[in-house]
Amino acid sequence: MQFSRPRGTRDFLPGEMIKRRYVEGVVRKIFERYGYKEVQTPVFEELSLITRKSGDEIRERLYDFKDKSGRELALRPELTAPAMRLYVNEMQFYSKPIRLYYFGNCFRYERPQSGRYREFWQAGVELIGSDAPEADGEIIAVAVDVLKSLELKNFELRIGNIGIIRKMLRSSGISESEQDRIINAVDRGESIEELLKKAGVEGDKIPRFMKLAGERRRVIRDAELLLKGAEILEDIKKFDEMLDLMESYGIKDYTVDFGIARGLEYYTGMVFEIYADKLGAQKQICGGGTYSLADVFGGSKISTRGFAFGFDRLMLALEAEGKLKSEGDGRVLVVPTGEKMVGDAIRVASVIRKNRPCELELMRKKLGKALAYADAEGIPFVFIVGEDELAEGAILLRNMKTGEQRKMKIDELEKWRQ
Ligand code: AMP
Repeated sequence: MQFSRPRGTRDFLPGEMIKRRYVEGVVRKIFERYGYKEVQTPVFEELSLITRKSGDEIRERLYDFKDKSGRELALRPELTAPAMRLYVNEMQFYSKPIRLYYFGNCFRYERPQSGRYREFWQAGVELIGSDAPEADGEIIAVAVDVLKSLELKNFELRIGNIGIIRKMLRSSGISESEQDRIINAVDRGESIEELLKKAGVEGDKIPRFMKLAGERRRVIRDAELLLKGAEILEDIKKFDEMLDLMESYGIKDYTVDFGIARGLEYYTGMVFEIYADKLGAQKQICGGGTYSLADVFGGSKISTRGFAFGFDRLMLALEAEGKLKSEGDGRVLVVPTGEKMVGDAIRVASVIRKNRPCELELMRKKLGKALAYADAEGIPFVFIVGEDELAEGAILLRNMKTGEQRKMKIDELEKWRQ
């Protein structure tokens, strides 16, 4: 009997893993260039850590369970809450700012479709302790730098500010939980006019504000006109200053969108999303912003911002632009021409492995068949260990692309680079 994978999960074959590891390597490199340091947290957490801020409704989308001692646990649906739990438990007294990054699998009980899985990977950063506008600029810059380094061309950056909207709702007398409900509705693309009316909010300023989107200067001007004389204008000004600093990172191509709400309730200020236009319905490859969680998890209140890439969607976006190759670079195959040469072939392979990946022919194939295998596998170089050459202390090197073959002294092997 064969078994199949659980719904919404995937197996990754070697060709795919080469691509995934390459992209992961670039992501890690860029995170580290900005001073972010990796942390790792458990795959499961206490259920209450996840529901604390997101509410019990999130349980529908969780893999939650009781362990044998009756503890209520859940597989992590994202990594910000675990990272902030780690910060509160272990790092509150470290000097600030603290820059953390993570790369790990997450689990959500969702209806699977292209770009939406029940097990998926997130790569993200958390910047803890700085409230400066350039800190907002930095995290956006890190996300964009990753995409530029991967040479992704078709992506769209949209930046908003949920803090301004929360402030407007608060000054209209709307409670935190009502604010969460309204923001969630916006995130789902639903109209909020009704909700606002029910909550007793007069006028249409808030919905009009949330519809402002487009080129930075125009949107800021429209916002200033809409909110003329209001105290909140100070926040618009601060947001505009943040955009200036962000532009100093070389980011010019973006849209300001005050309708960005983000699904999770913990965002408190700047929010941003990045879309890969070629991906269709599940095109959001990155999301993040300023949030407040440490205090929710029993720590002191501290300014925090971060983002997460949906790593699998990033892979799909790169694939759609043909940016990924699955060949391993510079693989080598060593082929003995007969049984007697196997021992020597093993010794030759051991020398080559000091510098590069090298496989030994193991199927006792005849030379012709072994070369055909190398060809099919895209292996660029084959060393042939034959009796005659060996007698001269040499082997044959075949370049599979050109078909050229030349003799090489075994003594030279260690220095061979190509
Ligand atoms: P979120 O934690 O919901 O803000 O998600 C952060 C990123 O993770 C999103 O921008 C998506 O790219 C990705 N993501 C969220 N849910 C899934 C899923 N079920 N499958 C694949 N990627 C996902």
